[in-house]
Amino acid sequence: MAATMSMAAADSGLWKIRALELANTKHTIGAARLLFTTVYGREVWTVPSRAHKGEVHQVTVDTTSGRIHCDCPSTRACSHQGAVIHAERMREQATRALQSEQEWRRECDMGGALMDAGRGWN
Ligand SMILES: [Zn+2]
Repeated sequence: MAATMSMAAADSGLWKIRALELANTKHTIGAARLLFTTVYGREVWTVPSRAHKGEVHQVTVDTTSGRIHCDCPSTRACSHQGAVIHAERMREQATRALQSEQEWRRECDMGGALMDAGRGWN
């Protein structure tokens, strides 16, 4: 079971790299828009189609399993999925940056408290 899961993870990792490469070459990076998130933890994104102007592809992300599905004819990695992977990474980075800033502020507050405590000794 565990072995199967790590195999799947490795496979999806390579697949994600391929999708990101495609997004890079087809210029879909930055084009993904989060439409909505379902109560089941699924995210629905839209990515404009580069082949057919005015059309969009719908990319569904299962946030619990990390599975990404696109409605375009491509059976494996496609540039639309790559665009969504990229957008999710950007969001992850932004969340992480915000968290580290909050942690940094908390440390500063603690530092201030220590300074106040130190004052009593002088
Ligand atoms: Zn696609």
